[in-house]
Amino acid sequence: MRDTTTLLRRMIEESRRISVFTGAGISTESGIPDFRSPGGVWSRERPIPFDAFLASEAARQETWRRRFALEPILRAARPNRGHAAVAALVATGRTEAVVTQNIDGLHQASGVPDAQVIEVHGNTTWAACLDCGRRHEIADLAAAFAADGRAPRCDRCGGLVKTATIAFGQAMPAAAMARAEATMTAAELCLVVGSSLVVWPAAGLPVAAKQAGAVLVIVNRAPTPLDEMADLVLRGEIGAVLGEAVGVQ
Ligand code: NAD
Ligand code: ZN
Repeated sequence: MRDTTTLLRRMIEESRRISVFTGAGISTESGIPDFRSPGGVWSRERPIPFDAFLASEAARQETWRRRFALEPILRAARPNRGHAAVAALVATGRTEAVVTQNIDGLHQASGVPDAQVIEVHGNTTWAACLDCGRRHEIADLAAAFAADGRAPRCDRCGGLVKTATIAFGQAMPAAAMARAEATMTAAELCLVVGSSLVVWPAAGLPVAAKQAGAVLVIVNRAPTPLDEMADLVLRGEIGAVLGEAVGVQ
């Protein structure tokens, strides 16, 4: 592991354009469970697809019950060494933007400017009306849910309110995907950090980077379907590996 970390350090030093693509694995060291690690959310609760959310009040209530249950964990979470390493890369000017599947806002909290975080699966720290787009705050929705147990409705138009995330089966955000693809395919070096790389179309972004000529590096403790395509795979803990490779404590 030490040798490959040294190799990654050199690759980073020698690259002028570095794209970074992150998944839930970068936030587990901040106490937020990922989906597919043993004991992760996936083993206990299957995600509720978008069409089910639209179709039934019971599905909406269950979606919100899970979201509010996660709130103490999200509130307590602070960026870790992996986030700090990514923020340091952005600060060098060689990483134009961080492309993330995460919905936790920790890249922003680690000091990456909002405009340089591309969230391809949205953000769960706020909610929006599916009809009129009005923003709703999680704390207000939680208080109302605690009082009446009903899935929130928009106070302006009566529409369904949902976290500002992309559920399974929901359309991807077109502008964010276009920006993500542009920055990933422009890179010389593409760092993929903490993603199982099984969720599409997001997993197609590192593939596009590789096809466009980037050197592809995967940092993940478990194997991924793209390992064979990668130029270098580091099977370690993200904070330690990236921290050492970037030179961040
Ligand atoms: P995933 O759970 O499918 O995969 C995470 C990967 O990270 C796993 O392969 C795991 O082995 C690895 N990993 C976990 N902790 C690690 C560590 N400390 N060091 C090294 N490797 C580690 O996550 P995904 O690929 O991002 O897909 C899940 C989807 O669920 C995403 O689209 C995301 O929107 C959502 N999600 C987000 C969060 C979050 O925002 N923090 C958390 C859970 C799920
Ligand atoms: Zn509305």
